[in-house]
Amino acid sequence: MSSLVAEQAAFLIDVTRLIQFATAEGWVITGGELWRSPEQQEIYFRSGRSKTMNSNHLRRCAIDLNFFWNGRLVWDKELIRTVGEYWESLSSKNRWGGNFKGFVDVPHFERRV
Ligand SMILES: [Zn+2]
Repeated sequence: MSSLVAEQAAFLIDVTRLIQFATAEGWVITGGELWRSPEQQEIYFRSGRSKTMNSNHLRRCAIDLNFFWNGRLVWDKELIRTVGEYWESLSSKNRWGGNFKGFVDVPHFERRV
């Protein structure tokens, strides 16, 4: 098994833990992007939706999740912070986009590989 596959598998196990944790906290979670093609990344990069051509989405080590509370989609970083901190507690490699400097990306959870 390649080291990247091992990282991808560990990432996905942490995602399952994250979803269970957030659900227990009362969130309703739906899935957004996980793997992203280089072609799609370039579209996001050119439009400004992404600031990098080196996204962990390209390596299957990032996921965007939608957080609903009382049926409403929530983007507020402070409301999701407990979940983001839980994510970062699962592995020293985990980063929550809500803690990014400059380009804050609240729905984004990644494993740095
Ligand atoms: Zn993302």
